[in-house]
Amino acid sequence: MHKSDFFSPARVNQLQQIETPYYAYDLALLNETLSQLKNAAGSKYHVHYALKANAHPQLLNKILAAGFGADCVSGNEVQRAIDCGFKNSSIVFAGVGKSDKEIHLALDADIFCFNVESIAELNVIDALAEQKNKIANIALRINPNVDAYTHKYITTGLEENKFGINPYEFEEVIAVLDGLKHVQLIGLHFHIGSQIKDLNVFKNLCLKVNDINRWFLQKGLKIQHLNLGGGLGIDYAEPDKNAIVDFNSFFRLFDDFLKAEKSQQIHFELGRAIIAQCGHLVSRVLYIKNGINTNFMILDAGMTELIRPALYQAFHKIENISRYQATAGTKYDVVGPICESSDCFGKSVLLPFSERGDLIAIRSAGAYGEVMSNRYNLRDQVQSHFF
Ligand SMILES: *Cc1c(COP(=O)(O)O)cnc(C)c1O
Repeated sequence: MHKSDFFSPARVNQLQQIETPYYAYDLALLNETLSQLKNAAGSKYHVHYALKANAHPQLLNKILAAGFGADCVSGNEVQRAIDCGFKNSSIVFAGVGKSDKEIHLALDADIFCFNVESIAELNVIDALAEQKNKIANIALRINPNVDAYTHKYITTGLEENKFGINPYEFEEVIAVLDGLKHVQLIGLHFHIGSQIKDLNVFKNLCLKVNDINRWFLQKGLKIQHLNLGGGLGIDYAEPDKNAIVDFNSFFRLFDDFLKAEKSQQIHFELGRAIIAQCGHLVSRVLYIKNGINTNFMILDAGMTELIRPALYQAFHKIENISRYQATAGTKYDVVGPICESSDCFGKSVLLPFSERGDLIAIRSAGAYGEVMSNRYNLRDQVQSHFF
């Protein structure tokens, strides 16, 4: 059994003093993750961190310091990236429904690139850029129809998904672009889903991208960069054994299968793989409620703090860190206090015998955790602490 050094007795003592529930972030692990990513990416691959996974300024500062750019999916994320010091020229902006206000903001900021998701959006960006007498850099977000084999709510690269421009629209896009004077095509963008564990999916993506890239180049379009998006998955089952994703294998796959022109830059937008393992949701046992067939462990954290299990049946490892070295011999349904039956972090979870007041860590919660927290039931806004 791998156990995290993060939950040493001294640390648990420290965590015990803080009002629960809260997010505890492991900055040492984040630094190590960033340094491994940087080494693996080298100078060949440009990585933009996807702010939507976690946009806490203290975490963004570390990611910025490591030299990565920003990938945003809303105007407020663009603003957050700028406020945290990301260079405007390192910001990309995707999203299927960018509002005029958001487009104005990004145009005023002269961001690196809009990842455009439809022909309708192309026309709007062109019109708004014309008002400002600017030329907006754009990449076409393409729906390559590659199955990511992940949960259907986080699959984005199939024809049935709302994202991106489909291959049957390519001729029309080129004709439209020809008539627009305030957008300049500089790249092709792909993002096919999230929590992708099977690297073969990225191989399939490369093969599609190679064809699509060649098609655009043959049409005489100057595609300066290919953006392969994010989606690299992490190990929710074994967060200590695999605390850091094998970034080398990930990039090696693109070395092997992506056929870009020498002059073309290659970009990525990783979110989860950078930040997920660095965050733990720390909670306290409020009550143990024993039924005939089920023991309920009722926590003071719920779906308001971490919605992934309720939203997409996500698995998170649950640990009793007050009894970190004890043997697990009791099964609990670990639930939150919210008035919804989906407010459940795990069923029949094998844990040490537990009591009211024990500290429980819900692991791998650094991505799509705090950013999705909400105040349903008028609960307090969840706090975060850094270690
Ligand atoms: C969410 C998102 C990402 C990041 O996805 P991860 O699975 O967290 O790596 C990258 N690009 C776009 C366009 C996204 O919407």
